[in-house]
Amino acid sequence: MKRVIFDSDHEQFRDSVIKFMQAEVAPFAEKWREEGSVPRELYRKAGAQGLLCTWADEKYGGAGIDDFRFEQIIIEENMRHGDVGFYINLHNDLVAPYVAKLGSEEQLDRWMPGIVSGEQILAVAMTEPSTGSDLAGMKTHAEDKGDHWLLNGAKTYISNGILSDLIIVAARTDPESRHGLSLLVVERGMEGFERGRKLAKMGLKAQDTAELFFNDVKVPKANMLGDPGQGFRYLARFLAQERLVAAIGFMATAQTAFDLTLDYVKERKAFGKPIGAFQNTRFKMASMRVELDAAQTYVDQLVLLLNAGELSAEDASGAKLLASELEGRVMDECVQLHGGAGYMEEYRISRMYTDARVSRIFAGTSEIMREIIGRSLGLDERKMS
Ligand SMILES: Cc1cc2nc3c(=O)[nH]c(=O)nc-3n(C[C@H](O)[C@H](O)[C@H](O)COP(=O)(O)OP(=O)(O)OC[C@H]3O[C@@H](n4cnc5c(N)ncnc54)[C@H](O)[C@@H]3O)c2cc1C
Repeated sequence: MKRVIFDSDHEQFRDSVIKFMQAEVAPFAEKWREEGSVPRELYRKAGAQGLLCTWADEKYGGAGIDDFRFEQIIIEENMRHGDVGFYINLHNDLVAPYVAKLGSEEQLDRWMPGIVSGEQILAVAMTEPSTGSDLAGMKTHAEDKGDHWLLNGAKTYISNGILSDLIIVAARTDPESRHGLSLLVVERGMEGFERGRKLAKMGLKAQDTAELFFNDVKVPKANMLGDPGQGFRYLARFLAQERLVAAIGFMATAQTAFDLTLDYVKERKAFGKPIGAFQNTRFKMASMRVELDAAQTYVDQLVLLLNAGELSAEDASGAKLLASELEGRVMDECVQLHGGAGYMEEYRISRMYTDARVSRIFAGTSEIMREIIGRSLGLDERKMS
C-alpha cells in the first residue's frame, strides 16, 4: 500500500539514507556481528552524514528539523539496509532527547555537539539484575554529598553498554519514596564506573549489550538532568516516544521479512511449481500483507501525532504492542515459508527471526503494554475498588 505521510523531501532524504546504509553498514555487518559490536567510527560517519539527531539545534551541529518523519526514515532504512544491531535509533531518538529536553544551557553546550557529531555515544540505564518491568523497585541509589552525588549500584542488559560515553543512569535519590528517582549522566572514565561482560544474546549480535557497575562514583551535581526526584516522571514522559520508535523499527523489519519471503516463494519450486502458487502460500502472504498495511498505517498516524505533540502513552504502548506481536507472527510465517532454508543462518530470515524475539520483551514487555492500555480504559484496581 502506498504510504501517504511522506513527500518528495522525505523520499530524497530516504535515498541518501539508503546509500549510507548500503555503503557504510551492510558490507561490514557480518564482521560486526561476529565481533559483537559496531565500531565507534560508524557513529562519527553517521554524524558527518547528518544522520545523528536531525532535530537538534543548528548551533549544536544539527539540522533543526522539527519533523519526526526524517528520524522514522533513518530507523526504517537502518533496519532494511543497515543492521538491526546498529543502535542509531537509541542514540538519536531514545537517549539524546533526555539531554536536549531536560538539559540546562551549560549541559547542552557541553554534550550536544559531541552527541550530534558522533564523538559521544549514548546509552540509558534503567534495568537492574533484580528489576526491569517494575522500575520503581530499582536499588541503584545516589546520596547527596554536597557538591556531588555518590552513586552505587548495578545495571544490566544495557544497549550500547560498551561503546557509550554518556550514560543516563536512573538512580534512587529519595530512599523514602518509591518513585524518588533522578537521572544522572555518568561519563566514560569516571572513577568507580566499570563495565561488565558484553552479554551473549540469541540475536542482535552486533549490539554491545552489557552490564554496568557503579561503586562510589562521584557524579558532579552539574551532571543531573532535570530536577532531583523527578526521574520517574521523566522516564514515563520519554518512554512514549521510545515505544513509538521501537514500533517503527519492528514494522520495518517485518516489512523487510515479507518482501524477501515474497521473492523466495516466487523462486522456490516444489511439486513442479513455485511454492507461491500454492493456495496456502498465497493466503498466508495475503493475510500478512493486509495486517502489515493496517499496522503501518497506525504507526504512521502516531508519527504525525508525535509531530503535533499529541502522542499519548497508551497510543505509543498500543503501537509497540501491535507492531512487536505482528513482527513475531510475520517472522514465524516467513521462516515456515522458507522451509529448511529458513532455519539456516546463511538465509537472512533465520537471523531476523532470532533478532525479532526481543521486540516483545524490551522497551516494556507486551504484558506491561497491555497494563498501560488497560489502565487508560479506567481498568485500574486502585481506582475501581
Ligand atoms: C537486548 C536487550 C536490550 C535492552 N536494552 C536496555 C537498555 O538499553 N536500557 C535498559 O534500561 N534496559 C534495557 N533492556 C531491559 C528491558 O527493558 C527489560 O528486560 C524489560 O523491560 C523486562 O524487564 P525484565 O527483564 O526485568 O523482566 P521482568 O520484569 O522480570 O518480567 C518477566 C515476565 O514477567 C512479566 N511481568 C512483569 N510484571 C508484570 C505485570 N505487572 N503484569 C503481567 N506480567 C508481568 C513480564 O511481562 C515478563 O513476561 C534490554 C533488554 C534486552 C533483552
